[in-house]
Amino acid sequence: MKTVTLYSKGIDRVLRGHPWIYRSQIKGMSPGIQPGDAVFVISDRKKKIGTGFINPKSEITLRLLTHHEESIDLPFFKKRIEDAISWRKRHIEGTNAIRWINSESDQLPGLILDEYAGHFVLQISTLALELQKPLLIQLIKDLFSPKSLYERNDFPSRQWEGLPLLQGTLQGETPPLVEIEENKIRFWVNISQGHKTGFYLDQRENRKALRGYTKGKEVLDCFSYTGGFAVASLVQEAKSVLAFEISEEALALGQENAKLNGVQDRWQGQLGNAFDLLKSSSLEDKKFDLIILDPPSFTKSKAHLERALRGYKEINLRALKMLREGGILVSACCSHHVDEKTFQQTILNAAQDAHRMLYQINQGTQAIDHPIVLSIPETKYLKCFFFEVFSSS
Ligand code: SAH
Repeated sequence: MKTVTLYSKGIDRVLRGHPWIYRSQIKGMSPGIQPGDAVFVISDRKKKIGTGFINPKSEITLRLLTHHEESIDLPFFKKRIEDAISWRKRHIEGTNAIRWINSESDQLPGLILDEYAGHFVLQISTLALELQKPLLIQLIKDLFSPKSLYERNDFPSRQWEGLPLLQGTLQGETPPLVEIEENKIRFWVNISQGHKTGFYLDQRENRKALRGYTKGKEVLDCFSYTGGFAVASLVQEAKSVLAFEISEEALALGQENAKLNGVQDRWQGQLGNAFDLLKSSSLEDKKFDLIILDPPSFTKSKAHLERALRGYKEINLRALKMLREGGILVSACCSHHVDEKTFQQTILNAAQDAHRMLYQINQGTQAIDHPIVLSIPETKYLKCFFFEVFSSS
């Protein structure tokens, strides 16, 4: 196998279980290595590190797959995918929408595979796996017998690997909308045009945790998408839900989801920017019993952390002011650049400015089909706090 040599400095992180090796760590490589090749990685002191995929175009130039010298072939991928399937089978029930493969979390960097009731969606974010696509498609057919397979390779970070943006059907026929069931709640999923692969599977446990807090409540769902939290609240007997959403298509599907569950009478949507809607005069003096804040990531890099934190603080401050005494705030953050402590402190700052006391009642994270691997901190990204809120006077 062709060999890549690393500077010894910095290899500890890799030996301790983190798969990323940056361009600056590479000292040399044997001739003839092609982008996307599987290569054997050693240190300049001849320490064996393992086998990984290389793409010199990418800042993360090597992604380690194993700590041995090993062929990266069909049996290798089959075993990794079977391990990922087995994890979900052990830990998940109550849904037919599952992320079966979650990239680094499943030791398959660059590969995502989601299922929506028998219809599968594939995302590939590395050149090496793009080159293995025919083999991966064959394995997906063999292991899952999908009704259809669709590729959503239209996300911008593909360009960091020099890959084109692609989307389309790879097998069978993907319907425009697929109906899924998650913890007894039904949702339409738009695979070809929805966000990510169509649905925020990672919030499953937090939508479930809403149970018990919603009965008879007036709810505000501020970044509603297709109504994940909104419809869950209504099915769990909320008195009413107001859903804010900036995307017209997402809001419209949210309404359809309310209809699908027979709760549309208590659902009301408002198209617009939640930052503006939260301070709009039409809501002046309006109070809610439960407010959900599940915004998109406000920062994709460390460089914009300060600005992002100001954004998180602002929406939390506004929401806290609109809660009745003893009301509940559900506040999420999906940026892995904002750690749990920093996010909690940001909500606390907002509460102190709003003269509110926060009693934490639940602390959620991403659903278990997005496994958290402790040696890879980036695999933990979702924070979702539940607080009961009281005035501090
Ligand atoms: N809670 C949802 C997922 C929310 S994702 C669920 O469980 O399915 C975040 C959503 O916020 C996206 O739908 C995005 O379109 C929307 N969004 C982004 N910026 C917004 C803004 N400024 N105001 C309102 N909605 C916004």
